[in-house]
Amino acid sequence: MKKRFTNICLALMLAGSLWSCGGGTKATEGSEKQDSTQTTTDNTNNNEATGIAAMVKEYKKVKLTTDLSQLSDKEKQMLPLMIEAAKIMDELFWMQSYGDKNAILGKAKDEATKQYLTINYGPWDRLNGNKPFIEGIGEKPKGAQFYPADMTKEEYDKLDNKDKGSLYTIIRRKEDKSLEVVPYSVVYKEKLTKAAELLKKAAELAENESLKKYLNLRAEAFLNDQYKASDMAWMDLKDNGLDLIIGPIENYEDALYNAKAAFEAYVLVKDKAWSEKLARYAKLLPDLQKGIPVEDKYKKEKPGSNSQLAALDVIYYAGDCNSGSKTIAVNLPNDESIQLEKGTRRSQLKNTMRAKFDHILLPISKMLIAEDQRANVTFDAFFQNVMFHEVAHGLGIKNTITGKGTVRKALGNTYSAIEEGKADILGLYMVTKLREMKELAEGKLNDNYVSFLASIFRSVRFGATSSHGKANMVCFNFFKKMGAFTRGEDGTYKVNFEKFPEAVKGLTNKLLTLQGDGDYEATKKFLDEMGVVPAELQKDLNSLKSAGIPKDLIFEQGLEALGLTAQ
Ligand code: ZN
Repeated sequence: MKKRFTNICLALMLAGSLWSCGGGTKATEGSEKQDSTQTTTDNTNNNEATGIAAMVKEYKKVKLTTDLSQLSDKEKQMLPLMIEAAKIMDELFWMQSYGDKNAILGKAKDEATKQYLTINYGPWDRLNGNKPFIEGIGEKPKGAQFYPADMTKEEYDKLDNKDKGSLYTIIRRKEDKSLEVVPYSVVYKEKLTKAAELLKKAAELAENESLKKYLNLRAEAFLNDQYKASDMAWMDLKDNGLDLIIGPIENYEDALYNAKAAFEAYVLVKDKAWSEKLARYAKLLPDLQKGIPVEDKYKKEKPGSNSQLAALDVIYYAGDCNSGSKTIAVNLPNDESIQLEKGTRRSQLKNTMRAKFDHILLPISKMLIAEDQRANVTFDAFFQNVMFHEVAHGLGIKNTITGKGTVRKALGNTYSAIEEGKADILGLYMVTKLREMKELAEGKLNDNYVSFLASIFRSVRFGATSSHGKANMVCFNFFKKMGAFTRGEDGTYKVNFEKFPEAVKGLTNKLLTLQGDGDYEATKKFLDEMGVVPAELQKDLNSLKSAGIPKDLIFEQGLEALGLTAQ
């Protein structure tokens, strides 16, 4: 999932342009910006357009492409069908998030407003706390278009219908004003039928049997709201070059009950080389587990390997995942019964990560990393760190050693931040070990270290309120204390390559001990002390605001962007 993903990474998807563990957060830019927007909307129409034009410019436009030469002719013929089906998901998401897309776009005063409406799938600014940016528009209904805007909690509670909380139904009013529960396959019948036809046509072309099966089952799910069989088939995909994540998937658009799934689609081309490497690393987990620098009792479990990892390029984003901040990692399926049976697949979206690296992380590094270490900030190192973060979720222990049950349960609301911090730090541990074992040769360990530091600045740029932001600040503050980096008088930061490995060991030990002990109070105290942005860093981060670094990306995508002519 983009946001909800698995419980583990759920939190991560948070903010702004988070890389690891999914995107989807809706961070705000801060009050300065809100104020200026407000002022302009209060002024004349012209000024409002200027305000919105400036907001559009905060999104960097990038073209989504990949190496199509690795695809067969049949696969190339499948792409237009998949993209057409994705476009239907886009229309459906508009209906779920706002309502009548054409009506509001038709009323837009100018091109910039139209663009901003398109970016946000409606008149509310997703990266600015859903603040309305069109005059006369009220607050966004919490339940989006999944429920009647005037439905009360009492009314909902009284509604006697077993499907009212289903992912795949909406609640609406009948003529007599009473509530009814209607399945997606009925509400969106026409569009879903068309999407199903497209998937079936793509399935006919599919040479890969597992993909053929999945596409056919997904098509059927559109018509009967039964998604489990197709989710299972998706987990069984094997040796496929193309992938398609499509349908009603995440439930974040429903801010009222987090119950209803929003439509989205990713058309994906697998990076087979990286995916194979990841599969190999996952097999090394048991050996890596043994070497973790912590007392034996904190690493006695056998590392879980029920997660598949894949690296892919996205060639089309549609609907939920294309709204506001763009997702760069997806962990699916969300259905917990399937997770128990088959685990999940974490899909890392490599070309989008690269674009965020180029347009966001590098400019940040230019401002905050010491000049003589800027060359150590590389995409390869950054990508390795993100990938190993994901693999490292499988290391450590899931159960406390103090009889307090699972770590998740014992640590409660502090769990996510500690788990994300653990994955960050054990990801660095893995990179180090794999290099020693000669399993990883690309780039240098120093690149991993400096890129790690740079990436902290990126992820807390909009604040450290999310679990991942907190985890990042824990690393930052702990490393600072250990002398793993220093801040120069010019306000740039520099890694101390001698002390860095010791800091990694120290923090590994600390986090795994907290998890194993399951001591909620101690963990909360640790987070309260270490999970905050120090004033000095805040000042440095503020300097990024005025530097014109993009907030996020928007995409030029489709057949033309790919160099394929529409058929
Ligand atoms: Zn994570």
